[in-house]
Amino acid sequence: LSSKIESAVQSLKGQARITDVNIAETVREIRRALLDADVNLEVARRFTDEVKERVMGSDVLNSVNPGQQFTKIVYDEMVKILGEERSDIAVAHQPPTVILIAGLQGSGKTTFSAKLARYLKQENNRNPILAAADVYRPAAIDQLKTLAGEIDVPVYSIEQKDAVRVAKEAVSMAKSLALDTVIIDTAGRLHVDEKMMDEVAEIKSSVEPDEILFIVDAMTGQDAVNTAKAFNETIDFDGVVLTKMDGDTRGGAALSIRSVVEKPIKFMSTGEKLDALSPFYPDRLAQRILGMGDVVSLVEKAQQEYDEKQAKKLQEKITSDKFDLVDFYDQIQKIKKMGDISDLVGMIPGAGKAVEDADLSEDTFKPIEAIINSMTPEERHNPEILNGTRRRRIAKGSGTSVREINQLIKQFDQMKKMMKSMSKMGKMGQAMQGLK
Ligand code: GDP
Ligand code: MG
Repeated sequence: LSSKIESAVQSLKGQARITDVNIAETVREIRRALLDADVNLEVARRFTDEVKERVMGSDVLNSVNPGQQFTKIVYDEMVKILGEERSDIAVAHQPPTVILIAGLQGSGKTTFSAKLARYLKQENNRNPILAAADVYRPAAIDQLKTLAGEIDVPVYSIEQKDAVRVAKEAVSMAKSLALDTVIIDTAGRLHVDEKMMDEVAEIKSSVEPDEILFIVDAMTGQDAVNTAKAFNETIDFDGVVLTKMDGDTRGGAALSIRSVVEKPIKFMSTGEKLDALSPFYPDRLAQRILGMGDVVSLVEKAQQEYDEKQAKKLQEKITSDKFDLVDFYDQIQKIKKMGDISDLVGMIPGAGKAVEDADLSEDTFKPIEAIINSMTPEERHNPEILNGTRRRRIAKGSGTSVREINQLIKQFDQMKKMMKSMSKMGKMGQAMQGLK
């Protein structure tokens, strides 16, 4: 998926403008890529329509780097659908908190139950008990006991094949032992069937869980949506757990489930080991689905630091030749805020080479700042008055040398020239001016 979206968007890169025609093409490509990644057809359609609308209504058409802007819109839209905020699991006012784990066989319920117990114990200082409500296979109970043993968490189980009873008794047991959390691991089947649904519904009504989590194998693709729907209709779960995210799946299922059942994704399981669990971060999954983390963070950085008014003022100064060392100093502060300067070079069409040649780093700026700080306001505004005497005085004051000052003035002059030649670029380019 990622490479397809990248190549879809790639076709926009380097183009000065996006036209209606290539927006339509790109959107179609993205939709196809989502379908290939097993995103539900309806979801993919809705998603791309939304993206298209936003692209049309935005500045992308005029931006310097339409490809990156486009990518950012795709990404933002995806984060929005995946759920902008991360949501925690419920805690009962009156302990114990009862958490019901449901899902198909093999989805990772038993593993997740133990992972969750570990997580709550370590991160939240809770005292959980696990209930072995997958009563049909002795091996299932043993599996839960083995995992629980690794993390020193008790398991409640009985001989009888009565899942509802196990669940209820585990809750009573928690109360009598003053344990604050009960995690009920249930039986699943390979496919949605009535018996399984009836049982989990019965457990739900008998213990009234505070939190019901639906566990789904992220690799199941298109099927995941139907399974999620069926479970949601029966037990109205509170959240989704995506398992096996350590595989090479990109998580297309998550996008479908999230938009079809509209329940938050709460955890991601990323391996067989008990610590392979992480809270769900929609931005990370969106980046994974799109495979474009770097692009996004760069665009975001630039946007954060971008101040339209300032850029405009700067622009005026450049064109009217009023750019001075005070502005130069301000630009340096701006650049420093943007972080790794070399990362940003690629964002300036045409200017990349010039900036690279200047070999910039944070330290580069230290003597420059010291020199400018040692100047009088008059000197900063009119660097041409910097004669030999003044330069010697400034060198002394800033702990630098006359040679460094000469060099700075030379660079400053070069930069002014470069900026003038760049000034025909778009907004982003203007914001980025002063990089040298
Ligand atoms: P259940 O039938 O729903 O209880 O599923 P299990 O918890 O027994 O898991 C089924 C299989 O998937 C087991 O072999 C687990 O070790 C494995 N498994 C569970 N979660 C993950 C995961 O996040 N990543 C990987 N790679 N394997 C997992
Ligand atoms: Mg199991």
